[in-house]
Amino acid sequence: MNQPVPSIQRLPIYLRFLKGIRNNGDVYVSCTRIAEEFGQLSVQVRKDLGITGIVGRPKIGYQIEELITAIEHFLGWDKKTDAFLVGVGNLGTAVLNYPGFVEHGLNILAAFDNDPKKKDLKFPHCKVYDLDQLEEIGKREKAEIGILAVPAGAAQEIAERLVKIGVRGIWNYTPRKLDLPSKIICEDVKLSASFAVLSRRLINEQ
Ligand code: ATP
Repeated sequence: MNQPVPSIQRLPIYLRFLKGIRNNGDVYVSCTRIAEEFGQLSVQVRKDLGITGIVGRPKIGYQIEELITAIEHFLGWDKKTDAFLVGVGNLGTAVLNYPGFVEHGLNILAAFDNDPKKKDLKFPHCKVYDLDQLEEIGKREKAEIGILAVPAGAAQEIAERLVKIGVRGIWNYTPRKLDLPSKIICEDVKLSASFAVLSRRLINEQ
């Protein structure tokens, strides 16, 4: 990837801030103001925003609306991206219910689970199907992303099935490192790793 991952990871935080000040009636914003908000250096903010292709004007800064459009376009959040989700446990349910992902264009077409009790459960934008129907529905409807929220032991097998039905990216909520063709883009959500860092920092600061 050409763009630095930490810069990409900061964009959603800027985006939320920009939408907030836009909704309060502001029209322009400077790097310094964004930097102050997040306790960062303004050169870093300029660099982060620069990856979207947008350039601020000296003394004026950025037009907020343009900046919002540029960030959303850069992230592909200005269009819908279809997905399938497998594993409707606690984590899968949270993802299905979270409206923030819908706002970012994530469109979960269908969810799957192998527990008959989960079948036909309804969520705001889709329902739950038996895992056996994955290939049949995958043939009918194409999704770019497969979201994995199954137990670690089932992750590799389900990921391979998702790849077979044509997903290009896997959003992996399981702790299992997946072994997939190199053309498949895999992003691991490291919830426990993140919590470990928080826990250790709390101990260090005691
Ligand atoms: P729950 O609260 O439903 O018990 P959980 O949040 O504790 O689930 P897990 O045990 O990790 O989490 O299971 C996540 C979900 O994945 C569950 O809904 C489970 O039925 C489902 N699941 C488990 N194995 C598979 C599999 N091989 N294929 C599809 N779904 C699976």
